[in-house]
Amino acid sequence: MNGSILGEGYRAVPDGSLAIVTSSDRIHFNTGQYDPHTVNGAELISHEFMHIMQAQDLGGLYIPKILIQYGIYGYWDAPMEVNARGFATEVMGK
Ligand SMILES: [Zn+2]
Repeated sequence: MNGSILGEGYRAVPDGSLAIVTSSDRIHFNTGQYDPHTVNGAELISHEFMHIMQAQDLGGLYIPKILIQYGIYGYWDAPMEVNARGFATEVMGK
């Protein structure tokens, strides 16, 4: 995770998104969403960390691949989102 930027207001996050990963070392949180001291906030960070790992694996293909999956499966059922939710659930011990 070297070089990861955690913070809010760093860059505009699309309406409705809690946070987005734009490259293998950047997580952008929507206003108020970076909240590591709550269960929901920690779960969101865990979810976004999985997207960081996906981006590290895929390099420049991360953004095109996740957008294509959104187009085919929709946000909720996109395999990369299912993967990130599963990771966050595991991290949170649910
Ligand atoms: Zn996600």
